Parts: sequence; C-alpha cells; structure tokens
Amino acid sequence: MSTSPISDALARLRQTFATGKTLPIEWRLAQLGEIDRMLREHEKDFAEALQLDLGKCHFESTMTEINFVQSEVKHARKHLASWMKSKRVRTPIMAQPGHSYIRPEPKGVVLIIAPWNYPLSMVTAPLVGAIAAGNCAVMKPSEVTVHTSAAIASILPRYLDKDAFAVVEGGIPETTELLEQRFDHVLYTGNERVAKIVMAAAAKHLTPVTLELGGKSPCLIDKSANLEVAASRIAWGKFINAGQTCVAPDHVLVHREVSAQFVEILARKIKEFYGEDPEQSPDFCRIASERHAARFQQLLEGQKIHTGGQVDVAKRYVAPTIVLDPSPDSALMQEEIFGPVLPIVTVDEMHEAIKFVADRPKPLALYLFTKSKVLEEAVLHRLSAGTVCVNDAVIFMVSPELPFGGIGNSGMGRYSGWYGFETFSHMKPVMKRSFMFDA
Ligand code: NAD
Repeated sequence: MSTSPISDALARLRQTFATGKTLPIEWRLAQLGEIDRMLREHEKDFAEALQLDLGKCHFESTMTEINFVQSEVKHARKHLASWMKSKRVRTPIMAQPGHSYIRPEPKGVVLIIAPWNYPLSMVTAPLVGAIAAGNCAVMKPSEVTVHTSAAIASILPRYLDKDAFAVVEGGIPETTELLEQRFDHVLYTGNERVAKIVMAAAAKHLTPVTLELGGKSPCLIDKSANLEVAASRIAWGKFINAGQTCVAPDHVLVHREVSAQFVEILARKIKEFYGEDPEQSPDFCRIASERHAARFQQLLEGQKIHTGGQVDVAKRYVAPTIVLDPSPDSALMQEEIFGPVLPIVTVDEMHEAIKFVADRPKPLALYLFTKSKVLEEAVLHRLSAGTVCVNDAVIFMVSPELPFGGIGNSGMGRYSGWYGFETFSHMKPVMKRSFMFDA
C-alpha cells in the first residue's frame, strides 16, 4: 500500500484512537489545559505572525485570536464532566421495565480546515470542541496566512499529544489529499465554493460535515435607534480585522429619516478609532494578500464614496470606506464584501429593509438597531439567520453559551461551548430492558 506523510499521520491517529487513550476526562482536560498554556506562552510569537500576515495589532490579536479561544477552553474545562455524563430520558410503557439514556461518545478522527481571516482561532476554537468530545484531530491552517500557519505547525505539536493530533500545512493539493482520506467528521471554515468541494469529498465516505461559511450579513437601523451607540458598535464590528470577519456587518439598511445623520456619526467614529489617516494607524489591519486587495479597486469603481475609498494594492491597504446607496446589482451588493467597505442603503420604511433581507440568502449574522419591540419581533419573526444580534454587532461571538453557525448558504452545523462538544460527539442512545415481565 502506498503511503504519504498525510496517510501516515492519519494511521497514527487512528491507532491512538483505537487504544481508547482519548476517552478519559483526565486526558481531555490535560489537552485543553495545554492549549491554554500554549496560547499564554506563545502569545508573542502568534501576535508577530499575525502582524506579518494581516498587520494585526497586538491588542486585536490578543482579543480575537487568544482570549477568545482561552475563554472557550475555560468554559469547556469547567463543564466537561457534566457534558460527558449520560443523560437519562423517559422510557415508554411498551419498553418497561427498562431505562433509557444518551451516552456521548467521540466520533473518532476529525479534520479541521481553517481560513486565513482569523488563522489561529479558526484552527484552535473548533479544536476545543473536538478535544472535549474525546477525538483525535488533523488541523489544516490556511496557506494564505503563511506565518501563522508556520507558527501553528511548529508550536502546537510541542504542547498537544503527538499521537492524537497532527497539523498539515499546505494549499489545495494537501487539502485535496486530506479530503480523499476517511475522517469521522470534517469541520470546514471558509467560502461557499470550497464548501461544496469539501462536502462532495466527504460524501464519498459518508462523513458528516460542519460548514462554517460567510455571506452578506445585513445591519438594519431603525429611526428609533441610539445612533451614536449604533455607529460606534458598527464601526468596531465592521473595521476590526479590516472587515475580514465572517460576521462583520456587510451592509447597512437605514431608515431615511436618520440616514444622513447616521453616516455623519459613522464617519466621525472612523476618525476617532483610526485617526485622520487610517493608513498610519497601528490599530488598522491590512488585507490578507495583494490579490485580495486588488479586488477592492474593482468593487469601488463607479461607487459614490462618502468616506475613505483609498486602495494601495502593494501595501495591501484598503481604507475604512463608506459607500452611499450602491445599486443592488453591483458586485458590492452581490458578493460578500469581506473588507473595510460599508455600503449604506437608505430605506423609506423598515419593512422595506425586512423584505430586502428576506429576498436574499440567509445570512450568517443579522443585526438590528432599534428601541421598538414591535420591529424587533417583526424581524425575529420574518427573518432567518445564523445568529441575530439586537443593538450590537459581532459581540455575540464572546458567548460560549450561544451556538455559532450558519443556515442555508451561510453554513450548516455549529460549535462553541456545549455545541462544539455535541458536534464532535455521537450522542449514542442506549435502552436497557429488564429480564422481568417478558410479554
Ligand atoms: P481560504 O482561502 O484560506 O480557504 C479556506 C480553506 O480552504 C484553506 O485551508 C484552504 O487551503 C482550503 N481550500 C481552498 N481552496 C480549496 C480547494 N479547491 N479544495 C480544497 N480546499 C481548499 O479562506 P476563504 O475561504 O477565503 O475564507 C474566507 C471565507 O470564510 C469568507 O466567506 C468568510 O465569511 C468565511 N468565514 C467563515 C467563518 C465562520 O465561522 N462561519 C469564519 C471565518 C471565515
């Protein structure tokens, strides 16, 4: 049989899983603890890699790539014993005397494929769920963010059990080879096009998949909203990581009565956050590659720009930009923007905004700023989305109590906290009968 580093690694992990080494809670807690220790001891190394790849400032790296994962680890360690317990359920009369329960068991060897926008946390946050559930895992960081990928590949194996975890670096050929193997679960984070390739490859082995995708997450602003707070939270959620956040507000749909005022406040917030020239700001990130940056030149062509608009492809710089009322047919309103460009669409009534969202694919996140309970209920009633956040943007990501995932084009499946444990577990139903009263 022909072997390769990938098939050898997988064989090693399968062997480990078969020994039952990953089953005891002590092993799982220890591995989770190692993730935390790794993030603490190498925070500086990861921050340097993230700075090289995305121009991320240290504070942003700590918050979005380190602390975020550490809080997932802390939550999992705290709740693991109760998550692992069998849950008793009722047994129908027909099956009495007997008792029934659901006993979580690990799926086996899982594959985690990560994108470049949060290149560390999109590997390690799903890994928390995989470890908590008692799996072995292969991780494939994104090749776009080369420095972070290299840092993960060199640092992670020094902390985690080498018999149970492997990092595979590389691009399409390596990912393709990985996907030819049989895994017990694949969690892919990235774009819709590759998600179809992943799902088709997984189908050959009947492997279940979790697809964490993106799309256009809309942000609705009603005339009753506190515009000052809304603008501040939207500016933060949109321009963090230079807009390269899957749940960043993609575009704003704002009531005509407050539209002009909102735009003025938003422009002021951009200045407050990043200064007169955001290119000089140490807090403003860069676009992942020249290829990705060049795309913004095309997206902005012919648009009505209120603020920003500067693109320097060689420096991978795109300014925080506000675009006014783009055509719904323009690429800006058709594709996921995934950068620091925020189109503002004015609507006469909020039900127009609701219809706009309802007519399009279900988003990963949906934001609503309002003081109206009636509007809030109408939005929750009419619109589907991976997650809805009222009166803030992006912040919901900090909660390990809420599942994180999309619906329809924005993905399938979920993780974070208990939901990560559940995703990487088989919830095995068990019914035990008594020998008494044989009917
Ligand atoms: P990317 O280009 O890094 O690709 C993601 C992964 O897919 C990489 O590991 C890459 O090696 C692999 N890949 C690429 N082409 C492939 C192919 N032809 N066959 C097999 N594997 C292949 O990242 P991306 O897809 O540009 O990431 C951005 C997208 O990810 C956005 O749409 C964003 O919204 C989404 N995203 C979603 C989440 C979420 O949690 N829902 C989080 C972050 C990003």
